[in-house]
Amino acid sequence: MFSKSFSTNQETIHPNNIYRQIERDYKFQGALTRHSYYPLDVGNILYSHCTRNNILSSLTKDEVAIVKNPIATKTNAAQRKNMVMNWFDIFDKMFFFGNLRKEINGIDFEDDELVEELNVVGAYDPTENHIFINIHEEKTLELKKYLTLVHQSYEEYFICVLFHEMTHAFISTYCCVCRPCRKIRQSITLGGDGRQGHGPLWADAMARMQVILQNLVKWNVNSCIDDSVREEMEFNKWEPSPSQLSRWGITRPRIPGKLTAADLPSRVTVHRTPRRCTPRRRMR
Ligand SMILES: [Zn+2]
Ligand SMILES: [Zn+2]
Repeated sequence: MFSKSFSTNQETIHPNNIYRQIERDYKFQGALTRHSYYPLDVGNILYSHCTRNNILSSLTKDEVAIVKNPIATKTNAAQRKNMVMNWFDIFDKMFFFGNLRKEINGIDFEDDELVEELNVVGAYDPTENHIFINIHEEKTLELKKYLTLVHQSYEEYFICVLFHEMTHAFISTYCCVCRPCRKIRQSITLGGDGRQGHGPLWADAMARMQVILQNLVKWNVNSCIDDSVREEMEFNKWEPSPSQLSRWGITRPRIPGKLTAADLPSRVTVHRTPRRCTPRRRMR
């Protein structure tokens, strides 16, 4: 009943609403199956998986030391790439079931189109299945100002950008792609990850994982939930509930068309912050 042969017909991939169970797959086969799970289950498993007690147990001794020590300043691109790749493995093992390494085609550090035309600092492209991290972004004044505001070093910021993009990658890789499931993902009101990928499905998981990571590291974790959700709100004309806003650490709800003095600092920050993800559905 879980045969992949169903996938030839996207409408009947899970007849009778039967989905593969993500926890069961992890427990019994030690791996997850691409595009096989009910979207809200994918968000929920990320949300709950990271609270297990042994979150560091899958890491090597060296990796645990990387997590627990302050992040040293990296003086050149090669060192930064190495740092990002190390953290990719660490995040994968801690939060993403150790599965993303096998799924992602690669991490790009150079992309002229993304940097020059769209000014992004990170992106996930589901078609190419690539993550992009712009480790050269320190040249911009906008980022320098932003990092002063959020009390982060460049290195800490790149690690958080990676964490943010890996969460998109996990959701995109494991959610079922049949038409009803794609609709759920796009719908903010049904709890999906929205048209830009920053709806409740993503934000709930990201916020929970961010807290867990913050309790383990000595530096300031900021996965850019606030700015990303605000963009999604604007794009969908969506106002999250007060409990969602408080879960995601968004203290000043944005009222469309009504800019109050209280809204101003965060709005300015949003516009000065380089976009983390492109607004295109293809690349987010
Ligand atoms: Zn489906
Ligand atoms: Zn994003």
